[in-house]
Amino acid sequence: MEAAEGLELVESLLRIHVRAVACGAMHSLACSSQGEVWAWGNGGSGRLGLGHTAHVVRPAKVPQLASIRALACGDGHSLAVSAQGKLWAFGCNVRNQLGVEEAWQDRCLPTPVCNLEDRHVVAVVAGHAHSACLDSTGALFTWGAGDVGCLAHGGGEDHAAPAQVRQLPSSSRVTALWSGSFHMGVVMGNRDLFAWGLGTSGQLGHGSFATAFVPKRVDLTSAVVSVDGSVAHTLIVTERSGVLACGQVDASHKVPVPTMLPALRGLDVQSVVCGGFQSLARTGPGGNSLLYWDGPPSGEHVELAGPRRMQTLGVSCGGQHVLVVVAKQWLKQSEVSHCMECRLEFGFTQFKHVCRSCRKIVHSSCSSHRKALPEQGFQDPVRVCDSCARAII
Ligand SMILES: [Zn+2]
Ligand SMILES: [Zn+2]
Repeated sequence: MEAAEGLELVESLLRIHVRAVACGAMHSLACSSQGEVWAWGNGGSGRLGLGHTAHVVRPAKVPQLASIRALACGDGHSLAVSAQGKLWAFGCNVRNQLGVEEAWQDRCLPTPVCNLEDRHVVAVVAGHAHSACLDSTGALFTWGAGDVGCLAHGGGEDHAAPAQVRQLPSSSRVTALWSGSFHMGVVMGNRDLFAWGLGTSGQLGHGSFATAFVPKRVDLTSAVVSVDGSVAHTLIVTERSGVLACGQVDASHKVPVPTMLPALRGLDVQSVVCGGFQSLARTGPGGNSLLYWDGPPSGEHVELAGPRRMQTLGVSCGGQHVLVVVAKQWLKQSEVSHCMECRLEFGFTQFKHVCRSCRKIVHSSCSSHRKALPEQGFQDPVRVCDSCARAII
């Protein structure tokens, strides 16, 4: 990843209070605290939910979606969960990974996932061509491509609609789910880890290179804190044994047993996020430092640099890109050389002004309006950029 040295601001989302992000192989979704969804990137098969299949370079608002709380992106499909527990899907459906009524047909607008009408969905994940969700009772459902065991129904056939996974122990409840591209798993209430799907790189951590078609417990000596999978490896943060990895852990080694890697030794890792072949570890107080590897976590990491004192609220890894949600903060005027509204360079004689709504640094001529912003504590009209002026009624 060329741009790994630094994070760049997605300026067109500055005005939005981003609650969650999700990255697919080549597309991205973000949802606001109000539950509105924005999509951008590769639009193939309708995965952006915008009603077409074109690529989109700036985040565009997805129609039809409201009160969304959680998002997931597969390689070519997208899933969104509403506050009411309703699940929506859009994008590629060649393996029925959308779980909608019209089997094998791509959907370019959000479409309700079937078989879940009486369920309250609370969490969702997606892999290359499979999908999974968890409901409020702890029941796990999977659908889509089943050929490498990702559905955990015991066979290798695809499922066109969500079907409940029955082979998990009833003694504990599923509390979290995670997915790599061709394998996935759950964390139980007792902090046990289960994994299934493609195992040819050892990514299931079962001590073999076998593919698993039913959930199988990963033998660990300590409780699981965080887990995520990529195309061919899995990272596991444990309570007392540090960060463990299994699968393709470097260019020439496949490890089928969760193992401490030298590159991760001694790091204070709070959680892990994987996507594509990438690895990312959140370290330090609040998990605010982001250590990144463009592959399995072997060798030197890159520390993803964001704004100083960055407070990280969320992270997602796509095929070859990363999105990070940070708490809003004022930008330093000396670090901004171009007007963030008209993109022209600031001259020596021009004052830099701050939009009180989105906090962009702009020309005076690009911030000629004043608006009251009661939600941000400005009862009297204050300076806003022209974009915000147009958006605020
Ligand atoms: Zn300007
Ligand atoms: Zn603004």
